Amino acid sequence: MSSVTSWSNSWIGPKNHMLTVEDARSRVLASVAAVGTEEVLVADALGRVAAQGLSAPHGLPRFDNSAMDGYAVKLEDCGAASPAAPAELLVVGEVRAGDPGDVEVGPGAAVRIMTGAPIPPGADAIVPVEDTEESGDRVLIKAAPFPGAHVRRAGGDVLEGSVVVGAGTVLGPGEMALIASLGLSPLSVYRRPRVSIVVTGDELVSPEEVPGPGQIRNSNSVALQALVRAAGGEPLVFRSVPDGLDETRAAFAGAAKEADLVISSGGVSMGRYDFVRDVIGELGRIDLWRVAMQPGKPVVLGAIGDVPFLGLPGNPVSIHIGFEQFVRPALKRMQGMSAVLRPTLRARLTEALDKRPGRLNFVRVTLARDDAGWAATPTGPQGSHIQSSLLNCHGVARFEIDESHLDPGSDVVVEVWSLPEEETVT
Ligand code: AMP
Ligand code: MG
Repeated sequence: MSSVTSWSNSWIGPKNHMLTVEDARSRVLASVAAVGTEEVLVADALGRVAAQGLSAPHGLPRFDNSAMDGYAVKLEDCGAASPAAPAELLVVGEVRAGDPGDVEVGPGAAVRIMTGAPIPPGADAIVPVEDTEESGDRVLIKAAPFPGAHVRRAGGDVLEGSVVVGAGTVLGPGEMALIASLGLSPLSVYRRPRVSIVVTGDELVSPEEVPGPGQIRNSNSVALQALVRAAGGEPLVFRSVPDGLDETRAAFAGAAKEADLVISSGGVSMGRYDFVRDVIGELGRIDLWRVAMQPGKPVVLGAIGDVPFLGLPGNPVSIHIGFEQFVRPALKRMQGMSAVLRPTLRARLTEALDKRPGRLNFVRVTLARDDAGWAATPTGPQGSHIQSSLLNCHGVARFEIDESHLDPGSDVVVEVWSLPEEETVT
């Protein structure tokens, strides 16, 4: 195995200097650019990000149509119709949803109409079927309609020319349905950023293998692939490399060829066999190392050629937190989004917390809502190797950099990853 090479420390800064999470994230975001675009059918657009603003080529609804099953009538024919004194009209035809709706409603006439069918010419209101009684070719109108009753007006939902989806919008079912209604499919979305994942470590075997003495199963590649997918990226086939200089160099050189972003786990600390910084320094450049956070301090930001690189320390919780703080925002920005951070809420901490000042701690918490608002309970021991701290975890409470103690009941800011579903009341 190669010996440790020397590496420039110009990017470390003064001894023990660490950037804040916010400064480091600003640098990360400044180092990435939006990827290209592609066309997709609207039905395939869930979670994709619109690359262009979309405006309505026509109004919605496209035509006046009925909101009810009933009868299209002329107001003047119904007068003050009531159950006691109904108006009687001649049923001259029927318009179903999908019909062109060209049956004229003349004086004294009514046209049977279904929900969504076009309002026939001459009609100015719809009387719901519940307020009528049909017999033979006649219908009794038992309630006087108001002008435009139960008529859904053309353009009443969306006006022609209005912007319905801004560039950078994440498309959900609502946006997708509107895009479909407006005939804007296929549409242009940002390509999924391609992410090369390199995991380092002599100790790793695959999740399906039985580890030998001293070995562990590689869980980080599983977590990182899932995190990439959840953030809208496309994880490429990952590389698992032993802790050797040549192997590490070959892996990162290969990883950068295929990707919009390279991320890695492990090999960025002070250990004798931590080669990632040496290799990135050789193949490209390192812009920062170490961030004042816990877990996950020895983060590396750099580039391999033109491809941005983020190296996360190998502990299973560190990769998760580092991904949340840096990689996810980068992937969002690469998909053209301006808002790239998790939402936050304020919660009542249910337990005391202590730490040394100097690093922002991300405390994994379970959220629960009660009459007093949100309560945040730490998920148990918070070491960076405690994988179970990510179970039943709704996000991280910020235990701020200068703080050293929080009492139970303290107000904390929680970066929300998900919110608990509500129980059914049965
Ligand atoms: P490192 O950052 O390489 O010093 O690794 C820190 C810790 O994370 C060590 O205990 C490693 O065994 C563990 N670790 C590194 N890579 C992985 C991985 N891919 N899956 C699970 N644990 C890992
Ligand atoms: Mg290692």
